[in-house]
Amino acid sequence: MARIETLVADITTLDVDAIVNAANSTLLGGGGVDGAIHRAAGPELLAECRTLGGCETGQAKITGGYRLLARHVIHTVGPVWLGGNRREPELLTSCYETSLRLGAEHGCKTMAFPAISTGVYGYPADLAASVAVKTLTRVLADLTDIQTVTLVAFDEGSHSHLLTALGRAEN
Ligand code: ADP
Repeated sequence: MARIETLVADITTLDVDAIVNAANSTLLGGGGVDGAIHRAAGPELLAECRTLGGCETGQAKITGGYRLLARHVIHTVGPVWLGGNRREPELLTSCYETSLRLGAEHGCKTMAFPAISTGVYGYPADLAASVAVKTLTRVLADLTDIQTVTLVAFDEGSHSHLLTALGRAEN
């Protein structure tokens, strides 16, 4: 099965086949990781995103990576946290699963994910890390061409949640 790694990094700097973007449903750019990815990729990324017609929560769409080292960007729309009883866990699970399958369909062997929904969308970082690790572990078992998936934390706090979730998965 693919390796699951964690890293504290700016996801825009990574040399992987695809980075995942925590986008909003318009796919027309926003703040946080979305803003950083569009700044680093250049205006051609927004031009391609304009042709996509948006994206529903829990789904994903793929574009080129333009000025990024990454060959592709997979744009997924995480759920806004509304307390946890509004299908947030299923929708976040779907973001990871749909993005992995879309990457695999496009021949991606290495992929990196940010902590989807844990910024302005307010999903508790510990719960989100657990969804990420559980979903990757389940889905990667049948996506045998994917070699490495990196879960990227932007700070030490969210990194510790990833390490805890991975530790739990291994035991
Ligand atoms: P959402 O709207 O899905 O909550 P955000 O972009 O607000 O998306 O935040 C998602 C996560 O991405 C947060 O944990 C935030 O700290 C992190 N993040 C922000 N910028 C970057 C970056 N350049 N690289 C990696 N992670 C980032």
